[in-house]
Amino acid sequence: MNKFDVVLMVWFGLLGACIGSFLNVVIHRLPHGKSLLKPASHCPVCKHKIRPWHNIPIIGWLMLRGRCHDCEAKISVRYPLVEAASGSWFFLCFAFVFLALPDDAAALGLRALTFTSLLFLGASSLCVALIWQDRKKIPRSILWIALLSVLVVVTTLNRIY
Ligand SMILES: [Zn+2]
Repeated sequence: MNKFDVVLMVWFGLLGACIGSFLNVVIHRLPHGKSLLKPASHCPVCKHKIRPWHNIPIIGWLMLRGRCHDCEAKISVRYPLVEAASGSWFFLCFAFVFLALPDDAAALGLRALTFTSLLFLGASSLCVALIWQDRKKIPRSILWIALLSVLVVVTTLNRIY
């Protein structure tokens, strides 16, 4: 493993944590049929907009010590955990697909497809599990993404091994 691999692995870990931040929005809003883009992140209790630096994955929650900056309402520890889980998943998937497999195991295109579908599988499974925990039902759109990514993961891994 060279320096460039380490930089890429860390970069994908950070990207995964940012995606995890978006997954929190999906988990929270999608079951209610709300927009995933608007309004910007805000405290559900006092409705104050969350400051950009408090929106940094994991670090924002730690800076706030799990409480809203404006009204001190508790912010669930699930938010940073989802971000950490997503970051770790991206990190591990990169390590598995691009570093752990032997060089002659697969072409770059096949690796990229496996990697992307693994990311979608992890992200959608996390959403399915947590939306189910909250509401005991699963939005069909997320279920389709999860099923489609399983199909692609199984097909591509079958080509590699
Ligand atoms: Zn608040």
